[in-house]
Amino acid sequence: MDQRLHELHLHAGLVSGREKTCGKKMAYQSEELAVRAATAHNRWDKRRHDVEPYPCAFCQNWHVGNIMPLALLEAIAAAYEQTGNA
Ligand SMILES: [Zn+2]
Repeated sequence: MDQRLHELHLHAGLVSGREKTCGKKMAYQSEELAVRAATAHNRWDKRRHDVEPYPCAFCQNWHVGNIMPLALLEAIAAAYEQTGNA
């Protein structure tokens, strides 16, 4: 994952909150492990939707969650920066 996307995910995570983005989610210690978990999930016939790995802003690990389009991440990060908490 490139640096900018990585930072956007961290900002979006801070905005969304620990409960939603970290909480009880399975934590992976590396991007590679999270990618492996997401890939396995996305091959599962009974999944409701595809997932992607993302870096966690709270526990410094990686989690797997709903796919966040880049435009949405950018919008969240922009709102975050406007609050002056960046
Ligand atoms: Zn976490």
